[in-house]
Amino acid sequence: MTAADVLWLDPDTVQLRQPKSSHWEAPFLFLLFGRDRAILFDTGATRDERVFPLRGTVDHLIETWLRKHPARVSRPYELVVAHTHAHGDHIAGDALLAARQGAVVVGTTPAEVIAFFGFPSWPDAVVPFDLGGRVIDVIGAPGHEPSAVVFYDAVTRILFTGDTVCPGNLYVRDRAQFAQTIDRLIRFRDATKPRIKHVLGAHVEMSKKPGVDYPPGTVDQPDEAPLALPPSILDEVREALTVVDKHGRPKRRVVRDRFIVVDDPR
Ligand SMILES: [Zn+2]
Repeated sequence: MTAADVLWLDPDTVQLRQPKSSHWEAPFLFLLFGRDRAILFDTGATRDERVFPLRGTVDHLIETWLRKHPARVSRPYELVVAHTHAHGDHIAGDALLAARQGAVVVGTTPAEVIAFFGFPSWPDAVVPFDLGGRVIDVIGAPGHEPSAVVFYDAVTRILFTGDTVCPGNLYVRDRAQFAQTIDRLIRFRDATKPRIKHVLGAHVEMSKKPGVDYPPGTVDQPDEAPLALPPSILDEVREALTVVDKHGRPKRRVVRDRFIVVDDPR
């Protein structure tokens, strides 16, 4: 068993990473605390607590936070388990948390995501989700995967982009939807004041060498790029989506310094 890499980004926000030693995808997860509930973005790539102790880690983090905020919170304290998207390496741990008292696990189909967050139109809407004194914006973001959403937290000013934008391979499954999602995120970014600070995705696959990635399956990344990307990365992704081959078709692989767009229709 390998413990999660835990990093408190501020007193109410935790970044977790499933260690490479437990699964090469090594996804990042995030836990955000509000007065009435906490929300977890993604549950990792395994449902085996012995491989990656998600349940134990989340329980410990919530206990730790509740101990520091005994008067501020409503009880029983709820945990909402949401997802950046429904691929296996982001939802496998759902089963570990579903049995937890006070846990609400959001379904993984587009219909379930739309219903849970109350999207009046999909995907062209931004809906608020209130943790109690802390409102998260939920933005429709299909293109990598049909149920994908992006979360924005105005407290940390972090945009949580899952696999849609990360320092790695951006697999474009539905090109039109993906481009519309990046446009939507650019509009959101430009309308957000104060300005967004960081874009945090769910994987690091790039090395520190511009344009050089670690191939799928790599379990040791001693020279990996940082997870955080600047908000201007959205313009770079949008530009990369316009690159075509000599037949006018989307280029299979467009390499940029901090990401690689991979045309991967399903
Ligand atoms: Zn994915």
